[in-house]
Amino acid sequence: VTRQAGGNSIVRYQEAMRLNLQRRRVLETELARALEKGELHVVFQPLVDLKDRRLLGVEALMRWQNDALGDISPAEFISIAEESGLIVEFGTWIMKQAMKEAMAWSEPLRLAINVSPLQFTAPDFVDAIQDALSETGFSPHFLDLELTESLFVDDRLQLDTTIDALKQMGCSLALDDFGTGYSSLGYIPRFPFSKIKIDKSFIDQVCDEGPQAAIVSSVVSLAGIFKMKVVAEGIETEEQEEKLRALGCDIGQGYLFGKPIRADGIAQLLKTAA
Ligand code: C2E
Ligand code: MG
Ligand code: MG
Ligand code: MG
Repeated sequence: VTRQAGGNSIVRYQEAMRLNLQRRRVLETELARALEKGELHVVFQPLVDLKDRRLLGVEALMRWQNDALGDISPAEFISIAEESGLIVEFGTWIMKQAMKEAMAWSEPLRLAINVSPLQFTAPDFVDAIQDALSETGFSPHFLDLELTESLFVDDRLQLDTTIDALKQMGCSLALDDFGTGYSSLGYIPRFPFSKIKIDKSFIDQVCDEGPQAAIVSSVVSLAGIFKMKVVAEGIETEEQEEKLRALGCDIGQGYLFGKPIRADGIAQLLKTAA
């Protein structure tokens, strides 16, 4: 009987694996044509001053809608785009698209863009930004490039030339998803980040008894030493907002303040705030 059950669970496991692989192959194939078919678009999520909830800027986030597959979450398609190399092309597209849409707003807002390591280390990355800026007229001084820790753990990568060029242009760097990696803190002072974004996984439990509040507080101290601002991502409750304000975080992002929405929604927000 045991053997029979074991055999069945192996069959079930193999079937699940087969379906996984199959979905992945379908996604890969569809994703390769997503840009030319016009299936990608950009949404923007508010970033607010935690002192008074004033709208400071937005983060551009990529969305993919496919006729047959429906809406596919970035958690699923971004990693596929990274593994297939498509993320470089997608990244260039969203940067230009987000800037273009942002230029239609009645007042300038800071614009944060996620940059994957593959895109950042591509030889023409700086040119691509320069291109997007001059084509859209967006100011580099309002641009925050969000980079993740994974870019900094490989110390063989030559990042300095690119980073110097970006600073020269007037762009800012933000360290995204802070706390989710496993590397030492040593790289932080080596790079000129203007913001550290604490990952949602810490914010979720910041009001509980556990160590999360102490961790946030340490990040705030660390950031202060290097004159970096702290962004808390994934704030969903007023209790979290108050706690994070008390802990000294500067900027908030989360469903409490606003979900990611299309550019016209942001335009509307600016109108109501004015
Ligand atoms: P991220 O850069 O850390 O972006 C924040 C994510 O948290 C977004 O998920 C946002 O919708 C979500 N979020 C914000 N506030 C809340 C909240 O209060 N509750 C909950 N449950 N979620 C919240 P999204 O849009 O699904 O994107 C997931 C990840 O995909 C991003 O994480 C980023 O790493 C990646 N991504 C999205 N767009 C791009 C892009 O254009 N380029 C690159 N390279 N990566 C992107
Ligand atoms: Mg981000
Ligand atoms: Mg993040
Ligand atoms: Mg995150």
